[in-house]
Amino acid sequence: MTRTRAVRHLVIVLGDQLDADSAAFDGFDPEQDAVLQMEVSDEASYVPQHKMRIAYFFAAMRHFRADLESRGRTVHYVRLDDPANTGALDSEIARHQAALRPAATIVLEPGDFRVREGLRKLPQRPDIRADRHFLCTAEEFDAFTERHPRPIMETFYRAMRRKTGILIDESGRPVGGSWNFDAENRKGFGKSRPPIPVARSYAPDAITRDVLKLVAARFSNSPGKLDRFDLPVSRVDALTELSDFVAWRLSLFGTYQDAMLSDEPFLYHSRLSGALNLHMLNPREVVAAALQSRNAPLNALEGFVRQIIGWREFVRGIYWQRMPHYADENALDAGLPMPRFYWTGETDMRCLAQAIGHTIDHAYAHHIERLMVLGLFAMLLGVRPYDVHLWHMSMFHDAIDWVSLPNTLGMSQHGDGGVVGTKPYAASGHYIDRMSDHCRNCRYDPKQATGDRACPLTTLYWSFLAKHRRRFANNGRMRNQYVNLERRSAAEIRAIRSHADAIASALV
Ligand code: FAD
Ligand code: SF4
Repeated sequence: MTRTRAVRHLVIVLGDQLDADSAAFDGFDPEQDAVLQMEVSDEASYVPQHKMRIAYFFAAMRHFRADLESRGRTVHYVRLDDPANTGALDSEIARHQAALRPAATIVLEPGDFRVREGLRKLPQRPDIRADRHFLCTAEEFDAFTERHPRPIMETFYRAMRRKTGILIDESGRPVGGSWNFDAENRKGFGKSRPPIPVARSYAPDAITRDVLKLVAARFSNSPGKLDRFDLPVSRVDALTELSDFVAWRLSLFGTYQDAMLSDEPFLYHSRLSGALNLHMLNPREVVAAALQSRNAPLNALEGFVRQIIGWREFVRGIYWQRMPHYADENALDAGLPMPRFYWTGETDMRCLAQAIGHTIDHAYAHHIERLMVLGLFAMLLGVRPYDVHLWHMSMFHDAIDWVSLPNTLGMSQHGDGGVVGTKPYAASGHYIDRMSDHCRNCRYDPKQATGDRACPLTTLYWSFLAKHRRRFANNGRMRNQYVNLERRSAAEIRAIRSHADAIASALV
């Protein structure tokens, strides 16, 4: 690092803050201020990480550096292989503060509680600025939960629609007369299916190729593959991906939102979570682009808007309001470790092999694979919720603590006892059979709960309901599930529970 001139403000840009117009740059003067970006090994290894995830972050950071420099901003960029690199955020920041002696260090609030605490403990504490990427501030979320002490996403989402005016007509009512079109958004493919658009591929350029080489050499023992790396890693490519989604996939996004299909990892999903979470895209521009679509029906538009201004903002609010104790929550006392096959995909369960295979190949699986296959099996088996979150942080290119934790520990594992979702997302193999083509190619039978061909998800589902009867039998939203359980005899339930125990012992 060479010191060229006195620095007034040193603006730290973390890997998930790649927005040249963020609040960290308010008042930025290229003549006096400079930027600090750091590739540090600690952040790439505090949990084992998918090679593609590491490469995604570094490639996006290096493209962002090029963007900043093209705007005339000075960037002090610490590469992973820089011999002076100490490997940790705090020591790198301190090293640059000592060398550049800025009058002030500025950073945007990070997306991870652990990192925020680390920044607060720095001897020369930076000025941590609120992040206006999000539509709902922490204060607004607190005010919302004061009005609604048991907050539910639907109420929050309606409040966000009203606040932003998105899909609200002139008289203040929801466009189309309904807040939600979920009933139209649960279609499986059945025998006939519309063509699935080919996913756009972003060939690695010289910057990305350098990163891929570095990651292959330095992280050869990390999980996942690199050979299919074709993610958009610059703002320009992220905008192309947004246009591609609006043009080709949005119109059927709603209808097939919950569907799954063999060897089709993306279907009609947007694949925008990474670009959004690294702030290459702003949620407002993503929603605006969708609303300008000429061919998307209302069920698709509303379904998409709900994810961005509803779920995404809601889980972030929950995370910051409830950390750090949220990470320790384990309402169902689940104590098993993650089964080993989650790292390899080596299992006879076709649905899991497919979802894990997509994850290994692309560091991505769509929402229903994450919730109703990967998460579902772990919850029914009784895996520790925080371990599921750690696995998720390891394997997905879009995982940041604020979004992964409430989705895994909360939504998919019910570890928070009903904060993110009012009931556990518990289902049997029958659900997967309805929503995918997996069961017809599987050695198990989704209708059977005991015996050689019993579908492990079906066995574990009934066992889960029986085990947690006291907790859930009076939950109105689970009434039908318990009515069906009561139809089974005590002997049947005993046999199912003993089969479930055998599945668990064989796996962990
Ligand atoms: P689409 O299906 O096209 O949805 C559009 C956008 O809506 C997404 O890009 C995302 O920004 C947003 N969105 C949708 N659902 C959610 C949600 N529940 N929470 C927050 N944003 C949402 N999303 C992440 O971005 N990072 C994560 O680490 C993450 N972990 C998850 C873990 C589990 C167990 C589950 C069930 C969900 C998780 N999600 C996470 C939410 C969601 O599954 C992903 O955002 C989505 O699959 C990303 O693919 P996509 O961009 O094609 O999304
Ligand atoms: Fe999955 Fe069971 Fe269907 Fe096999 S039968 S694909 S294990 S749900």
